[in-house]
Amino acid sequence: MGQRSSTDCDRFRGYVSASLDGELSEVEGARLDAHLGLCAACRAYAVDVRRTARVLREAPLEDLDFPIVLPSRRLAVARRLQVAAAAAALVVTVGLSAVVGAVGGGGGSGPSTNAAASSAQPVKLRFTEDELKMLYEASSARDRLTVHARLAL
Ligand SMILES: [Zn+2]
Repeated sequence: MGQRSSTDCDRFRGYVSASLDGELSEVEGARLDAHLGLCAACRAYAVDVRRTARVLREAPLEDLDFPIVLPSRRLAVARRLQVAAAAAALVVTVGLSAVVGAVGGGGGSGPSTNAAASSAQPVKLRFTEDELKMLYEASSARDRLTVHARLAL
C-alpha cells in the first residue's frame, strides 16, 4: 500500500461520504483513517465534505410555497412490468397464431408442420421488437402527459 493511485483516492473519497451516513464498517473506517493520514488531498476533501454536510444538516428546514411532485418509483416499476407483460402477451399471441396457422394450413402432415413452425421463428422476434418500440414510445408519451398534468395542478 505504498503507492497511492487516483482510483484509491476515488474509493476513499466514497468512504468519506459513506462515513457521514454511518455506512462504513470498522475495517473500512480504519482504512480511511490510514489513507487520510497519508494523503493530504483526500484529507482536505474530507474536511471540506464534513464541513459542508454539517452546515447542511444544521440549516433550518424551509417550507416551499409550491409542492414538488416526484415520480413514484413504484409507478415506474409498475409501468416497466406492464410493458414486459404486454410484450410477453404479444410473443405468446404471435407464437400461438404461428403454430395454429401452421397446423391449420399445413394439411396435417408432420414434416410440413415442423418446417412452417421453424420458419415462423424470425418473424415472431422481429414483430416483438417493433411492438416493444411502440410500447416504449406510448409509455414515454404518457409519462410526458402525466408530468404536464401534475405541473398544471
Ligand atoms: Zn487520496
